[in-house]
Amino acid sequence: MRKPIIAGNWKMFKTFDEAVEFAENVREKVPSEEKVDAVICAPAIYLPTLVDIAAETDLAIGAQNMHFENEGAFTGEISPSQLASIHVDYCIIGHSERREYFNETDEAVNKKVRAALMNGIVPIICCGETLEERESAKTEEKVASQVTEALEGFSPEEVKHMVIAYEPIWAIGTGKTATADDANAVCGKIREVVEGLYGEETASTIRIQYGGSVKPENIEELLSKEHIDGALVGGASLQADSYLALLNQA
Ligand code: PEP
Repeated sequence: MRKPIIAGNWKMFKTFDEAVEFAENVREKVPSEEKVDAVICAPAIYLPTLVDIAAETDLAIGAQNMHFENEGAFTGEISPSQLASIHVDYCIIGHSERREYFNETDEAVNKKVRAALMNGIVPIICCGETLEERESAKTEEKVASQVTEALEGFSPEEVKHMVIAYEPIWAIGTGKTATADDANAVCGKIREVVEGLYGEETASTIRIQYGGSVKPENIEELLSKEHIDGALVGGASLQADSYLALLNQA
């Protein structure tokens, strides 16, 4: 039985005061971590404060990106060891917005996944197809290649600790959601790819989220599917009420 994981991705939204108000409001209301892993991936400058607010609660804090080196002359970047030093638990890696606007490659994603694990950070590895790829029946090929490259060179034990987020790009922030059956079929394909690389036990342990316009009205059906173990949520994670409603249905 895989524990669901619901991760909010705030992207570049919220002022500092809004972030603090949200975290103070939800920290005592999130369901027990025995039931669901509740994560908020916030803008980097808010992380130390949010980690403090969430300490000793069932809310976990994540970053939205990181460099793959622990230190060096990389002006403006934030390293995995720096995130670990302020007790950040998760990091989104390879979000489609980073791939599209910041030229993040599969190779960089693979290095970041390794760096995250080396620093005790759980990577939430994003993959997903464009509308054009979907319409030309290339969805499975695209996600299989992204997942294969992201997961290259690990041990089965390491892979078990990762989270994969299947996020069709055409469904992110558009209000369009993949049908639960379609999302489940692609998540099942991802599990097959993991099985081919790392065996059945690893494939049945790794958690696979769906992301793309998830909201309180559609999460129940998505989570009822065999291969969907949670959600990566943008817009609907910005309001405390809807974030809690998502968690309470997991
Ligand atoms: C995301 O940011 O990864 C995402 C899925 O956004 P939204 O839920 O707004 O579509």
